[in-house]
Amino acid sequence: MGSRRSPLRPRDVIVFALLLVIAGGGLYAADGRPIGELLEETGAILEWDDFSRSGMIWKGLDSIGFMSGEEIAVADFTELMRIEPIVYELGRLYVPDPTFEALVQRLGRVGPAPRLRPVKAIVIDAGHGGRDPGAVRTVTVDGESTMYMEKEFALDIAQRIRSELTPLIDGPEIVLTRDSDVFLELPERTELANNLREDPLDNILFISIHVNSSAALWGDGRGVEIFYLPPTQRRQVLEASVAETLEPDISAILNNLKEEEYTWESVQMGYAILEAVATYVPETPIERGVRVANFHVVREARMPSILVETGFINNREDLALLADSAYRQRMAEGVAAGIAAYVEDFETLQ
Ligand SMILES: [Zn+2]
Repeated sequence: MGSRRSPLRPRDVIVFALLLVIAGGGLYAADGRPIGELLEETGAILEWDDFSRSGMIWKGLDSIGFMSGEEIAVADFTELMRIEPIVYELGRLYVPDPTFEALVQRLGRVGPAPRLRPVKAIVIDAGHGGRDPGAVRTVTVDGESTMYMEKEFALDIAQRIRSELTPLIDGPEIVLTRDSDVFLELPERTELANNLREDPLDNILFISIHVNSSAALWGDGRGVEIFYLPPTQRRQVLEASVAETLEPDISAILNNLKEEEYTWESVQMGYAILEAVATYVPETPIERGVRVANFHVVREARMPSILVETGFINNREDLALLADSAYRQRMAEGVAAGIAAYVEDFETLQ
């Protein structure tokens, strides 16, 4: 990035114009990338004068002056740059690749959006485990029986989500409630998540992974379904350390606001995941959508929390998919992509 910063003075404009005239130039066919891409990549703005066919690219006080078809540009009104010409054609400006690179070097890239509300941790909860197998179905093919257990699918998908999510996010810690076939009481899962919060303002997200089943041995119900806590379910979400410093009335109001915020964020996270799953796993129905249900883990995690049912174990088509590691992999990729998209929104918006 240029270090010389000079205000625009009439003398500079004259010098700039003279330099361009001296530099001369020929006719060039439009080649390269639209200038909009350069502006997007650098965060710069363009002033273009259609009459003189000259432009100024501004980033803060740094500037690049150029004319269509000219091999010379002027940085910060003083420094000559030899470039492959930027060309104006049919109402658009095109920047040749070498010039594009040189100007990106000169102006700097746009930094990542600031993390206004950093997420501290993402808890991936693999449902069931150990002596609790979750839903179970046995399939017999040619006299050979295979028993499928929800706890195994949930753990496998949760571990795959961790692998897929790790390279997609920069900052939040990813925590699995269990990483092997062990039994955990439901409160242990939510306490683990709640205890990650060292400061009352720490943001944590909770995603529980399960496999669905209906009452029948085999049913027609299929696909992905995502649950969040019904807004009518009242709960204490304000941290005790904060609540005890406040008047009871104020504490109740803040608690309500926090509950509403968590509900809204849970729904947003649910839709982000559903949308990504629809892209990564097009063969699974998503019509069941994002719905309310009073599950222990979504109720007791004091944070945006959802429960993802990744298919029905008692539907033969879904079970065939769940039993296929390629399906579980793409399901994990979809859930991870949805979480990553939601984290970005969560951290950079409002
Ligand atoms: Zn379950």
